[in-house]
Amino acid sequence: MARIALIPGDGVGSEVMTQAVRVLEVLRDAGVDSLAWEEWDLGADRFLRTGTTITDGEFQSLADDYDAILLGALGDPRVPSNEHARDILLGLRFRLDLYVNYRPCRLLHPAISPLKAGGERPMDLRVFRENTEGVYGGMGGSFKKGTPDEVAVQEDLNTRKGVERIIRAAFGYALERGLDRVTMVDKANAMPHVGSLWRRTFQEVSEEFPLQETRTMYVDAMAMDLVRNPDAHQVVVTSNLFGDILSDLAAVLTGGLGIAPSANLHPGRHALFEPVHGSAPDIAGTGTANPMAAILCVGLLMEYLGHEEVGVQLEEVVTEALAGDITTPDLGGGKTTEEVGAWIAGRLAHRIAAPGHSPAAD
Ligand code: ATP
Repeated sequence: MARIALIPGDGVGSEVMTQAVRVLEVLRDAGVDSLAWEEWDLGADRFLRTGTTITDGEFQSLADDYDAILLGALGDPRVPSNEHARDILLGLRFRLDLYVNYRPCRLLHPAISPLKAGGERPMDLRVFRENTEGVYGGMGGSFKKGTPDEVAVQEDLNTRKGVERIIRAAFGYALERGLDRVTMVDKANAMPHVGSLWRRTFQEVSEEFPLQETRTMYVDAMAMDLVRNPDAHQVVVTSNLFGDILSDLAAVLTGGLGIAPSANLHPGRHALFEPVHGSAPDIAGTGTANPMAAILCVGLLMEYLGHEEVGVQLEEVVTEALAGDITTPDLGGGKTTEEVGAWIAGRLAHRIAAPGHSPAAD
């Protein structure tokens, strides 16, 4: 039995989560796994109602009582400080020590690439972003704030342990999936201290994985390469900040936020899956949010639970939806969140019931 904590959250988070749950229902009803889920009331509504973002007991329960967490999105204009989102998301990331931010960026259909030649050289990239260190630790400060002499310092914290474990995760993943290209991205020319730690660690760990083709690249060169040679890289491992930027670029090159899933992992211990997009207050309540990212998160979750075939099937069904123009306006279609979710869930149920069935025969 796999127990899943659902945190629909705010804005479009709960709208896309409803569609992800449809897919979970299909998988449960088909007996793919004995899945059980519980919905958690965490988000802006609860914070505004009670003044509480998340309690220690809730963190503990999310850590101890579930095999995985599926989150919609957090963020609400009624909480301008965004403190509930910070407490919940960063709280989970740090307390569960979710040091891997895994973002697969695969072009599922040529029509959704913004690149002229995107369809001819489809991107199939997995970004491993370090998720607990770097500039996100909040170390630093400012001096003489608001004066012409103001000074601001933001520290980039990198530990040997933190760098080694994300690099290991990337190599382990590549080896497991039969991929042979791992690229480490840094800015060692401008940041030699941090660059030296990453490069030495990368070199040492790579010696344990002799089958891989390994490279190091500067982040600026990688940004250009993703656009010019979208199919050149397979696994990219990098720091928190560079990973944030490069994975958003890669997401846009593969269809945008509406279709980009992600996983936050402490391998062997904890897993949290969430669409890359936020709560999108500008379209919340309009029924136009794309549920594909949330649905692909279910695919990642199922892979994590050992059902790799479900991840593949879900990608194939989403590809069929794209080919048939069953899409929301962000991808040029005219369907609603509900219609896209229902179509994907229906198609998945159909495929599971009739394995090997070719949609072309319909
Ligand atoms: P956050 O700080 O939480 O990331 P944000 O407003 O910066 O919030 P998003 O909420 O992801 O970022 O929204 C960015 C843009 O992408 C918005 O214009 C939004 O409408 C669009 N967008 C986000 N998610 C979706 C989705 N699922 N479907 C369609 N458009 C989306």
